[in-house]
Amino acid sequence: MRDNTSPYWRQRTVERLGGGRDAGGAPLLAPPPRAARPVRFYTVHLGFTAAGPADARELAVGYAEALSLLRPELALGAAALSPADAWHRAERLFCGAVGPDGERCADVAEHPGFHHAAGPGGLGWGDG
Ligand SMILES: [Zn+2]
Repeated sequence: MRDNTSPYWRQRTVERLGGGRDAGGAPLLAPPPRAARPVRFYTVHLGFTAAGPADARELAVGYAEALSLLRPELALGAAALSPADAWHRAERLFCGAVGPDGERCADVAEHPGFHHAAGPGGLGWGDG
């Protein structure tokens, strides 16, 4: 009688799986380490009333600037305004033009004159 082995049977052998109790105390089997998710931008929608689009824009700029003072991590340049029932018609509140050193213009959208970086003494650029 021949032996009970076959070259086609799976031979289960446990080799070292990159760890073990004798190698630093890590378990022999562990789930693969997960990479941290990259941060993403999200949008908050706030509602308020105004007499018309111009008043709404002025109020929205004030709200965005006030919130950015309280919470500097907010992306002020991403602030937008839309009618409450038409979010697809959102319009940017701030210029956001990119300057020569990579800074962004913090002035309101479609402003006249030079672009200005945020803060006192911020860089100005453009044709004016
Ligand atoms: Zn600008």
